[in-house]
Amino acid sequence: MYPSRFRYEAPRSLAEAIGLLQDGGDYAKVLAGGQSLVPLMKLRFASPELVVDINNVPGLDYHRADPDGTLRIGALCRHVDLERSDLLKTTQPTMASAAPLIADPIVRNRGTLVGSLCHADPQGDWASVVLALGGSVVARGPRGVRSIPLADFVTGPFQNVLDEDEIAVEAVIPAAQGTRSGGYLKLERRVGDFATVGVAVALETSGATVTRAGIALTGVGGSTIGATEAAAALTGRPLTGESIARAADLAAQVARPRTDHRGSAEYKRHMVRTFVVRLLNRTDAAVERAA
Ligand SMILES: Cc1cc2nc3c(=O)[nH]c(=O)nc-3n(C[C@H](O)[C@H](O)[C@H](O)COP(=O)(O)OP(=O)(O)OC[C@H]3O[C@@H](n4cnc5c(N)ncnc54)[C@H](O)[C@@H]3O)c2cc1C
Repeated sequence: MYPSRFRYEAPRSLAEAIGLLQDGGDYAKVLAGGQSLVPLMKLRFASPELVVDINNVPGLDYHRADPDGTLRIGALCRHVDLERSDLLKTTQPTMASAAPLIADPIVRNRGTLVGSLCHADPQGDWASVVLALGGSVVARGPRGVRSIPLADFVTGPFQNVLDEDEIAVEAVIPAAQGTRSGGYLKLERRVGDFATVGVAVALETSGATVTRAGIALTGVGGSTIGATEAAAALTGRPLTGESIARAADLAAQVARPRTDHRGSAEYKRHMVRTFVVRLLNRTDAAVERAA
């Protein structure tokens, strides 16, 4: 199907893009990688009157670490840039393990992490990863710049807190206070598919003690789920078989899966528990090696 008729603009600066969004009001949409927006427009689930393509805005395709270790990912940084990033491989284990699992190579060539956060698909992998890492989104609009923790950014399925005239300019991952470990596991029907179940685990440790933990779930509820009680069960103590089992149970309890053609709710909840145990056991081995 063809999309509804729309006006297309390709501004060359953020100021120009924000001005266009202001004029376009409710009926304008930002286009980044187009990997979610274009299919939605072709299905006519989205029919914006104005599409503001930000691909000609210079200086948004970066991902880099500040001197203190804070990671910044610009709005035009593609999934493939993160998949191939040595910076991620050496400093961000959870992100590095998720990047090759996003969709397929064609989608990864164009799609962006920031676009994925904005799209707020409950099956989007990056939102869980960024949530587990305690990340945020920086938005710019006519009233200035604001930073929004990811926990507050996604408000529901395909909904975020951005105003109509705001653009998400970057995602920010805070610097680790200890040694970072973790990973992402995804159950998919075939390679390149959306997650039936996804689990992100991000830990920081000092010696053998967990100083910060984040666990987030993909595809098992109406939006990305932060398993905060599960994470709290790990914090302030070394990882043990007991704490791992407790965290896995608590994570499975906050999952809200639905039975569908991909599996029963019970099966998906079981997979959440299994993935948490698997990721934490891996992490435990890494922490032991580092200690
Ligand atoms: C076949 C296929 C398989 C896929 N599989 C997966 C998968 O396994 N896992 C996964 O996580 N994703 C998957 N995706 C989605 C893909 O990762 C998209 O790239 C991502 O969801 C959106 O990023 P984008 O840059 O393409 O955003 P776009 O499609 O350009 O935009 C998506 C939405 O976000 C808004 N938006 C984008 N950027 C901004 C911004 N900077 N500021 C404000 N609003 C913005 C747009 O207005 C739109 O509403 C798949 C997509 C396809 C087509």
